[in-house]
Amino acid sequence: WDYILYVNDWLGGDSDHESRYLILDILGQGTFGQVVKCQNITTHEIVAVKVVKNKPAYYNQSMMEVTILDMLNKQLDPDDVHHILRMRDHFVHKGHLCLVFELLSSNLYELIKQNSFQGLSTQLVKVFTAQLLDALMVLKDARLIHCDLKPENILLRSLQSPQIKVIDFGSACHERQTVYTYIQSRFYRSPEVLLGCSYNCSIDMWSLGCIAIELFLGLPIFPGTSEYNQVSRIVEMLGDPPNYMIERGKQAANFFEAAGVDDQGRSVFRLKTIEQYSREHNKQEQPGKKYFQYTHLPDIIKNAPLPPSRSSSTRRQEELEKEMHNRMAFIDFCQGLLQLDPLKRWTPQQAKMHPFITGEKFVKPYQQQQLMDQAISVSPPLQGIMPSPASSK
Ligand code: ADP
Ligand code: MG
Repeated sequence: WDYILYVNDWLGGDSDHESRYLILDILGQGTFGQVVKCQNITTHEIVAVKVVKNKPAYYNQSMMEVTILDMLNKQLDPDDVHHILRMRDHFVHKGHLCLVFELLSSNLYELIKQNSFQGLSTQLVKVFTAQLLDALMVLKDARLIHCDLKPENILLRSLQSPQIKVIDFGSACHERQTVYTYIQSRFYRSPEVLLGCSYNCSIDMWSLGCIAIELFLGLPIFPGTSEYNQVSRIVEMLGDPPNYMIERGKQAANFFEAAGVDDQGRSVFRLKTIEQYSREHNKQEQPGKKYFQYTHLPDIIKNAPLPPSRSSSTRRQEELEKEMHNRMAFIDFCQGLLQLDPLKRWTPQQAKMHPFITGEKFVKPYQQQQLMDQAISVSPPLQGIMPSPASSK
């Protein structure tokens, strides 16, 4: 980092009509630069300013962030109701691009940490997830991919209310321009990106699945220590990706090998062993720490520690039943987001209708329910055309 910012320094004011900002505090450090708390000396508004490193690559990528946020704020969410960060201004200070944002509070990683990595209540996970779906719906409609959704990039608006905002559009891109293959933070990286397949907005839904589970458990569900370790953790929990992803993914041959054909003549692939991968890549892979007692997602969620309660025993019994019901809904919800096949993964629109989010009673797997609903909705016209059993004699 070539430029250190200090409290009481000034930013901006280089041109006559440009606002000046007084630095009040240092908020955070990221890959792109430093984020400082400032006061706009004209409007007195307290804001957050991201001061980007003065290297052309960072400057250009951050100009993209400006363009995307500007479009999101002005055209797609003019009333500021979809949980997307607001950008107030941007300017160049001594060669550093500065992005001025509304001031927000802690990020969700800090919140989980403050909670001693115990996980949040199912109710709070639902509230945050619903808000994230709202933001992702707007992005999907505009065919924009965030590409770096993770707890550090989701901020509480204030410490008083459970309202969040998605920040850091520094890696975002349009579905038409998916030029980078090395994207998303490893724990939240989707199978298609890991395997080097083409990708679209559904990679953010994978990250959302990982985040929702992490909020609930307090620990990341796939804490991969390397690319191979990331792939193997996913495969261990969810099984192998479909053949087409392994056949087309540019990186897939690093992780998978052909293992013959099945009785219907279809290729069978298997994950390379840790020894084989280590040998082929000339590095010693480690299996990495196991965070959970169980291997399968439903068992991990079902058996997560229960929240403490001071209720009487009958009241407690009711609470437990409700919690288990919510957990069953949550498991089904997460499975829809953690579909290995991006074509089967739910869209934000579909996920928003899930009982975990709507609060409806959860009776059977949501996908099954949807198929049934479709069948019912096509049956009335058919009844009209076909003679009914009563009139056909
Ligand atoms: P990077 O691209 O470097 O990760 P971010 O935009 O994610 O930059 O910002 C880095 C960190 O700065 C965030 O994780 C957050 O803690 C803090 N931060 C960013 N924007 C704000 C904001 N508007 N209000 C308060 N803190 C912020
Ligand atoms: Mg960030």
